[in-house]
Amino acid sequence: MTVDAAPARDPQPRSRYDFTRVQLGELLADQPRYRVDQVWQGLYGPNGDPESWTNVPKALRSRLSDVLAPALTPLTESVSDEGDTSKWLWSLHDGRQIETVLMHYPDRSTVCISSQAGCAMACGFCATGQAGFDRHLSTGEIVEQVVRARARAAETGRRLSNVVFMGMGEPFANYDRTWAAVERINDDLGLGARHLTLSTVGVVPGIRRLTTESLQVNLAVSLHVANDDERDVLVPINRRYRLAELAEACADYVETTHRRLSFEWALIHGVNDTDRHGRELADYARPLRAHVNLIPLNPTPGYRVRGSTPDRVQAFARHLRDLGVNATIRRTRGTDIDAACGQLRATHSGSSPVELI
Ligand code: SAH
Repeated sequence: MTVDAAPARDPQPRSRYDFTRVQLGELLADQPRYRVDQVWQGLYGPNGDPESWTNVPKALRSRLSDVLAPALTPLTESVSDEGDTSKWLWSLHDGRQIETVLMHYPDRSTVCISSQAGCAMACGFCATGQAGFDRHLSTGEIVEQVVRARARAAETGRRLSNVVFMGMGEPFANYDRTWAAVERINDDLGLGARHLTLSTVGVVPGIRRLTTESLQVNLAVSLHVANDDERDVLVPINRRYRLAELAEACADYVETTHRRLSFEWALIHGVNDTDRHGRELADYARPLRAHVNLIPLNPTPGYRVRGSTPDRVQAFARHLRDLGVNATIRRTRGTDIDAACGQLRATHSGSSPVELI
């Protein structure tokens, strides 16, 4: 697998957020020049629905409502953690489904977005990997997830502050569209690059490209095992991009951008949670000064091994800290609605979702 070589352009805009300024200019060719700015500000302002843009003539508003349609139709919305976690299951124009998760914390609100419908990386412990790949998302389909989550956060007086590309899909297998989305989120939605995190399973050419970008976002790498033999099995893309090569790309990223690198590590009982695994991880992470996020494995239908016990999770974290590695245990959000890491599968699952249609 390679990172897209040529810029990926979707022939037809699927979402109102697929339009570039140039395309909007073409659409509004019969209008005064300032309309493009008005419409652009309308799209990225607090209410992206053209019908609400009172500074635009009514006839044009209705025309724009047809052309600048939203791409995401909510199928279900599930709420958990006393309202602090919401998951949407969206249907796309072709019936494909994706998920988006909004999480409120005392000091921030984070949306976890999808970059592909499904995923081709085939990590056996991840529900998205188990279900396989459907298609890439367009830039607009990615951006629209953020816009919808921002609007929902605003309804309860919260300000969406962070975006993590940790939903369905591998962002670096859909590099161009993902990166165009990052630029829109930064430039037009005003969420600064240091509040954006791209997560990769370890697609080295993507990390290399990221290193050359002028916007410097946070990088998370889903490591899970720090020796090639075992990682080849747990994270199959490791057969293509070995750990040594991955470490080199990470080192260059950190050196060039001075951004924070983190490793994700889903703790799986007996598979990657022994002291030996901890030592291997520490040896790998320390030279990169990487932060380690420990995630107790969330259950998924296709993987029989369970997560590590709470005691083991604590002991593993202590062990890493003793070895000089910064490690935190990520509190799991939304397990009861299958919204937690690795549980996104785009099926009508989870307990008591709010049925919207
Ligand atoms: N493909 C990218 C983006 C997905 S992020 C990547 O792999 O980084 C989703 C995160 O959840 C990844 O760190 C993934 O490894 C982790 N994950 C997958 N399945 C999980 C599970 N069952 N329990 C906990 N974390 C899981």
